[in-house]
Amino acid sequence: MGYLLGVDLGGTKIEVGVVSREGVLGQRLRVPTPRGQGTAAVVDHIRAAMGEVLRRAEVAWGALDGVGVGAPGPLDRQAGVILEAPNLPELNGFPLAAALAEGGVPLYLENDANAAALGEYRFGAGRGSADLVYVTVSTGIGGGIILGGRLYRGVSGTAGEVGHTVVEVEGPPCACGSRGCLETLASGTAIARQAAAALAAGRESVLAAEGLDAAAVYRAAGAGDVLAREITERAGYYLGVGISNLINLLNPERVILGGGVVQAGRDLFDPVERAVRERALKVPAAACRILPAGLGQDAGVLGAAAVVLEQAG
Ligand SMILES: [Zn+2]
Repeated sequence: MGYLLGVDLGGTKIEVGVVSREGVLGQRLRVPTPRGQGTAAVVDHIRAAMGEVLRRAEVAWGALDGVGVGAPGPLDRQAGVILEAPNLPELNGFPLAAALAEGGVPLYLENDANAAALGEYRFGAGRGSADLVYVTVSTGIGGGIILGGRLYRGVSGTAGEVGHTVVEVEGPPCACGSRGCLETLASGTAIARQAAAALAAGRESVLAAEGLDAAAVYRAAGAGDVLAREITERAGYYLGVGISNLINLLNPERVILGGGVVQAGRDLFDPVERAVRERALKVPAAACRILPAGLGQDAGVLGAAAVVLEQAG
């Protein structure tokens, strides 16, 4: 039985792990992403981390069924090229898959949110369900869609951009050029921005303007701070409105919520479920369970490994 190698490439860290076909994570290694040092430095760091993890695991390249690489931003999967990496511009347009391939082992590049969706489907909270939507809420909001047991990519490979579905027509401007995208109202960035604006307007709160982030707002909400509760409840409600749209559109069996904000704010599920009760159609809502992601910190590496299984059928 072969092994999978998962590579989670992020703007701040590169994580590599050896994974069994059943999703058991063995040896793993995390190294900082060398930012601003050029393309070759990034490639060298990934290659060195892959080699080191395989050495520690005593697994030869030839024993691998494949390597999966999860990377941020839109990419050309067939060509193995990252088209645009917002946090890692040195890789824009770079043929990463060719640069990382070794010893004839197949290597697959996939968008990180799609990879995480595949990871939850194969190894996590999505096991046993063929129709699910994975939504990740962190600084931004992303997602991946599994339909009939296959990742749904769309014609250009961009499907699953849950964060850029509009939930408030006249809402705040979004970096994508639209307004009122879910990401502008419910992401970690949006939560921190709303808290900062309320403090600047003189609202009373235990929150301090310095070091303000979504985790701090969730901590304050948990301690009963009125302003923080207001902000997190509203963000959760908007997330629930976005999920109601997904439920009405796709009739999934599960919606799985992951990402840093979900880990920080488990209270998030109450307003999400309230919004779904109030906004989604009754039949698909009754058929859908909204669950926290099951893979936690390991989602990136396990998701990247799951990409290999998706490709192998
Ligand atoms: Zn947008």
